[in-house]
Order: sequence, then C-alpha cells, then structure tokens
Amino acid sequence: MEDCIFCKIIQKTLPSKIVFEDDRIVAFEDINPKAPVHILIIPKVHYASLKEIPGEEKDILSHILMCARNIAQDHGIGDSGFRIVLNTGPDSGQEVFHIHFHLFGGRRMSWPPG
Ligand code: 5GP
Ligand code: ZN
Repeated sequence: MEDCIFCKIIQKTLPSKIVFEDDRIVAFEDINPKAPVHILIIPKVHYASLKEIPGEEKDILSHILMCARNIAQDHGIGDSGFRIVLNTGPDSGQEVFHIHFHLFGGRRMSWPPG
C-alpha cells in the first residue's frame, strides 16, 4: 500500500526501531509510547484492520500473539505483566489502518480502558 506508514516501515523507507522481524511480521517501538514498553506488531501483508483478515489467513493472528509473548519476555515484562490491544474501527480509536497489535508493559495499567 503506497500511502501506508506501516508498509513503509516494513519496506524500511520510513525509519523505526525494529525489535523483531521474521518472514511474516515486524515488531517495532511505538513513536509515541504510552508505557515504558510500547511495541507495535504488524503482519507484512497489508490488512486495514482485523475485519479485513481473510479466514484462510487466520494463522497470522496466533503467530503475532505467540511472538508478542516472546517479545514481552525479551523486554523484561513477561512476569510483571503486559497488555495486548487491537484497536478496530472508529470507536476503538484506531488511527493507522494497517492492522497492528499494541504490546504495553512496564507500569501498572488501569481497567477498564478509557
Ligand atoms: P492506533 O490508535 O491506530 O491503534 O495506534 C497507532 C499507533 O501508531 C499509535 O500508538 C502511534 O503512536 C503509532 N504511530 C503512528 N505513526 C507512527 C510512526 O510513524 N512510527 C511509529 N513507530 N509509530 C507510529
Ligand atoms: Zn500497510
């Protein structure tokens, strides 16, 4: 997708601090972190949101979650705890329309979310 900032991060035409990458996903630090650890995890294939993931591609979702767990461990928040957020659509506050999972940790978080 030409105008997608996260596709540009995948292509490395837009700089980012990548913390993990494999053939299917990229994980990088959020530019405006909301917690001491705030990492975004995205598939390399562009899907605007969860709603656009075709059923036959559902394995990418479990792959992202398992990688998020490992990344949390690598960043020292595996035991203290972490939160994974997937904003989808207007009411959620989704601003970037390339599906991304937020991984937050390193501070006590409130519930319910705002
Ligand atoms: P959303 O509200 O769509 O769920 O979250 C989008 C996230 O992307 C925000 O936390 C925002 O700080 C982050 N973000 C937006 N633009 C960039 C960018 O160019 N680079 C990085 N690393 N993060 C970005
Ligand atoms: Zn994209």
